[in-house]
Amino acid sequence: MRTDHWLRLAREALAFLLAATCPGCDHPGTLLCAECRMLFAPRPQRLTTPQGLPVHAALVYEGVVARSIRRLKEDGATMLARPLGAAMEDILDEVASGAVIVPVPTSRAAFRRRGYRVPELLVRRAAQRSQRMLVAARRTGDQRGLGRDARARNVAGSMRARRTLPRDARVVIVDDVLTTGATLDEAARALRAAGLQPICAVTLAATPRHLGASEVTVST
Ligand SMILES: [Zn+2]
Repeated sequence: MRTDHWLRLAREALAFLLAATCPGCDHPGTLLCAECRMLFAPRPQRLTTPQGLPVHAALVYEGVVARSIRRLKEDGATMLARPLGAAMEDILDEVASGAVIVPVPTSRAAFRRRGYRVPELLVRRAAQRSQRMLVAARRTGDQRGLGRDARARNVAGSMRARRTLPRDARVVIVDDVLTTGATLDEAARALRAAGLQPICAVTLAATPRHLGASEVTVST
């Protein structure tokens, strides 16, 4: 058996153990306790990427929310996709009507590790459909721990859009967490290069450092 498979089995076993406690506060015997679930109530923020793409984020990436998203992404806790995805439902209904929802692509390595694509799963749990129109054109390094400029350099030219939509089709890009916006800017660039029209992005959450940062406008 390859190491990937063993890693996946270990993660599944870990997810099983973690699933026996609330992911927010470790209260035993429940998936997500009522108190923590209340923290998934949308706190919509309107932000802008460095290249000017409007972003609607449903939650603030901190505390219980951040912990739950990490468990969904890194510990295989896919059952969290439903309550988290629900937080994006109203925003997607509002901004994506008449547009095509396109998730940010999941790298091959991340898909092998997790067995699912987080942005796509969230869209599905938010009762919407997405089209996998963006693909990774090359490998990128881990974005974690990189500053704003390094992130932008790391992802520049890393995506490619498969044009299966009419030219000028309106597209809403979806991702899980907004950090610097470099990934969303690269997604928008790739879509425009394929003749499509990215109108905005929706993310499940935005890191709090975005709030009040000079390159970002916030209106809640
Ligand atoms: Zn809890």
